[in-house]
Amino acid sequence: MRKIQMVDLQGQYQNIKEVVDRSIQEVLDSSSYINGAYVKEFQKDLETYLDVKHVIPCANGTDALQIAMMGLGLEPGDEVITADFTFAATVEVIGLLKLTPVLVDVELTSFNIDIEAIKKAITPKTKAIVPVHLFGQCANMEAIMKIAKEHNLYVIEDNAQAIGADYTFSDGSVKKAGTIGTVGTTSFFPSKNLGAYGDGGAIFTNDDELAHILRGMVNHGMYKRYYHDVIGVNSRLDSIQAAVLKAKLPHLDNYCEARRNAASYYSNAFSNNPNIITPTIVDFSTHVFHQYTLRITNGKRNELHQHLLEKGIANAIYYPVPLHAQKAYQDDRYNESDFNITNQLIEEVISLPMHTELDDEQLAYITNIINEFLK
Ligand SMILES: *Cc1c(COP(=O)(O)O)cnc(C)c1O
Repeated sequence: MRKIQMVDLQGQYQNIKEVVDRSIQEVLDSSSYINGAYVKEFQKDLETYLDVKHVIPCANGTDALQIAMMGLGLEPGDEVITADFTFAATVEVIGLLKLTPVLVDVELTSFNIDIEAIKKAITPKTKAIVPVHLFGQCANMEAIMKIAKEHNLYVIEDNAQAIGADYTFSDGSVKKAGTIGTVGTTSFFPSKNLGAYGDGGAIFTNDDELAHILRGMVNHGMYKRYYHDVIGVNSRLDSIQAAVLKAKLPHLDNYCEARRNAASYYSNAFSNNPNIITPTIVDFSTHVFHQYTLRITNGKRNELHQHLLEKGIANAIYYPVPLHAQKAYQDDRYNESDFNITNQLIEEVISLPMHTELDDEQLAYITNIINEFLK
């Protein structure tokens, strides 16, 4: 068996090579590398796909978060609540803007931000909540929007990992992940579910006024050429990346389906193993499996990690250190007992290969080795 990677970008590219190559060639022929036609076309296609009024493309998912916070007018000292168990980008931009990050614990089952923990963390200085739809499944947005309404807070959805997921409200209505809060952000980093062949990102909102502010902010705060009304940044999606993304967007639902199929193969194979807890799928969100993440409950997670590497099976610990324990984000206000779940998860989680090209032969190989090792 060949080495099994976490993601197989090459295999996916081979299946769409013709249209991707043609689109990139068109950009080269046009020499319109920045703000070319594909940027606008991809923006419109994504607005349609997400059923959201405004998509503002930008350079990456971290910028998307930062610009969203700038656009909302958050100011130094404002408190922003987010999850302790996530990629650092979320808390990084809060810190960069001199806002005050307030990290809270997550749920053991969904890995997403804990609703009771959000409620406990609210103070008169709280201005925003940043739920992260971790590993491809939405946080409990209905509860979060209710809290936000009661306390007059903004909600910024970090949707870098769950583009394409559907959220169902208790009244039966359905919205795409990232289009529920005040504003949503995503990343087109190559290994994300909708990945470019370089960096890329986007911001989503249904608020016309906010969209206008954001569109200027991504381009040096310019609303009219060489007139700078606000302090902005230089954060653009370039035309070549937009061409790749436009070619890939029509496949996104199939990509999500392929990931779900691989996930259900895994979960079936592990269903009788007492040492493994497979991912929970909540009833209000579909799961697009950016990561397929197990909890290993017999204390052998690190040994499994090594064993799989020796067998040529890539795997990863997302995330090995909680944000509250990172040097850059330590804060005297935190109590270790506020992060019991995150502290448990960092010892138990392991993410397996997950991408659109996994076949049954590979899945059988991976699951047999794991079941054998953890029996
Ligand atoms: C990938 C990711 C980001 C950052 O996206 P980049 O495009 O790499 O800047 C932010 N938040 C989460 C949860 C992510 O997974």
